[in-house]
Amino acid sequence: MTLKQYRQKRTFTKTSEPSGKANRKKTPTSKKKSTSSPIFVIQKHAASHLHYDLRLEVDGVLKSWAVPKGPSLDPANKRLAIMVEDHPYDYHDFEGTIPAGEYGGGTVMVWDKGTYEPLEDMNEGLKKGKMEFILHGEKLSGIFHLVKLYKAEKENEWLFFKGKDEFVSSKDILRQNHSAQTDRTMDEIKNHQKPVKKKG
Ligand code: MN
Repeated sequence: MTLKQYRQKRTFTKTSEPSGKANRKKTPTSKKKSTSSPIFVIQKHAASHLHYDLRLEVDGVLKSWAVPKGPSLDPANKRLAIMVEDHPYDYHDFEGTIPAGEYGGGTVMVWDKGTYEPLEDMNEGLKKGKMEFILHGEKLSGIFHLVKLYKAEKENEWLFFKGKDEFVSSKDILRQNHSAQTDRTMDEIKNHQKPVKKKG
């Protein structure tokens, strides 16, 4: 797993995003029971086009997909998810503003975060183009699927959608628009309003 692509796209003297130099112990992501769970984060990113970045910890890095329409709790809403470069583990709590003119320039919010339970080996799932996992977030809970659209090696289009369980809902979860990390809105992050430590 390499973060070369991630680093090549960014100038760390200009952006406050992590360079991801620190090595990290790998949390197992096979379906075997483990004492620690891998993490996930969904960052709301007001770049040139607003989108949501889904990131799942696999082998010490964050496998990443840009989801233009964001997640849905309705299994019928299969959302296009474009696989992008791996991000360093340290990216999981990045919230702030990437300067205009830099790669991904715009405001980033930790929209949801938590742990996930792989329902099958994640590396096999990445190869097969079919992953199933349970999210334990503050906004998203329950089974979700990531399914690759095409077999061709270079294709990066996947679908991200809710699996059927008790957490299915027709309510628009995207209306919950405060940070899961600091409870701030996008404007408050943009205006550098001081984060308040979330209660509970
Ligand atoms: Mn993004």
